[in-house]
Amino acid sequence: MKMTPTISTQNFFGTSEAALQELFSEWKFEAYRVHQVFTWVYHYHSRDFNAMTNLSKSLRSQLSEHFHFALPKIQQRTHSKDGSIKYLMELNDGSVVESVWMPSESRKTLCLSTQVGCRLNCSFCLTASLGLKRNLTAAEIIGQHIAVNEELKEEDRITNVVFMGMGEPLDNYGPVVDALRLMISPQAMKVSTRKVTVSTSGLVEKMKAFQKEDLSINLAISLNASDNATRDRLMPINKKYPIEVLIDCLKKYPLKPQRRHTIEYVLLAGINDSDADAERLAKWLKDVPCKINLIPFNGFEQSEYRPPSEQRVLKFQNYLIEQNFSAFIRQNRATDILGACGQLAAESASVTQDPMSQVVQ
Ligand code: SF4
Repeated sequence: MKMTPTISTQNFFGTSEAALQELFSEWKFEAYRVHQVFTWVYHYHSRDFNAMTNLSKSLRSQLSEHFHFALPKIQQRTHSKDGSIKYLMELNDGSVVESVWMPSESRKTLCLSTQVGCRLNCSFCLTASLGLKRNLTAAEIIGQHIAVNEELKEEDRITNVVFMGMGEPLDNYGPVVDALRLMISPQAMKVSTRKVTVSTSGLVEKMKAFQKEDLSINLAISLNASDNATRDRLMPINKKYPIEVLIDCLKKYPLKPQRRHTIEYVLLAGINDSDADAERLAKWLKDVPCKINLIPFNGFEQSEYRPPSEQRVLKFQNYLIEQNFSAFIRQNRATDILGACGQLAAESASVTQDPMSQVVQ
């Protein structure tokens, strides 16, 4: 397997089908050759253009001169008692992000990152404390999937992908859309659109643009509060897109048949977990086709928030079920190995980063 990252060449991973078509047309090669190259790279896992024997020598040589293959480097693996594995991924500039592989009986899910840090400053999230360092490229986003899959046994390979790691995916819009296109393309990574979920804190303008991409990818909306004052405090983006604006966007969002939005609601003791919160939440979501994931907060040392009691979580869930919602309690995964969003990378960063460099919105 040949991996030769050269500064002057471009990473083949992350190069879109459209960009490659354009390049091939410029080079005077037939458009169908793009699919042949994709098949070698994404289906046969070849990293050597010279081994792609159904391509002409001149095309192989053009490709070798133009592209290299580079993946994020797995710097650390941490195994949880629940079977999950947290990967600390090193990018080519030394930045680190995390990806979490979570097995269950029916699926193997990878949670991946889209930014180094995040600028949205949600007060319950450890990634926010890093500030935004930079956006990931499409290659670095799909590279997490490829790098993890390459080291897993066949029966453990990733079936589902959630964009819920470090960063706000829609705040890194172009590279995330390019990565999604490669992920769901039958010629490339072949992940079913039903098995990919993109989480957002509710960037309404970007959600409107995203619906026009015709990707048929499910969105998960991180709501986390039943009134604007609480959501302003938890998620400052609410001051720009308050709950009524977000809900209006969801109601108008076109969905394919049998599809629903996912509403994520992190339960924080004494903040957003009361009976009145459950009632207000049910009112907001009355006409929104959705399922609700209730996530008891996964506490971390520096946090001012605490998880609610199990009894409180169940009462909250029961109320929603009584109101005919599909409401699930999502078990925190990998809690023994720093399970909250960004914790592993934040812990690593605290060793190397100047805390004064944190971006505050
Ligand atoms: S919860 Fe998500 S959007 Fe909010 S700061 Fe953390 S990573 Fe960013």
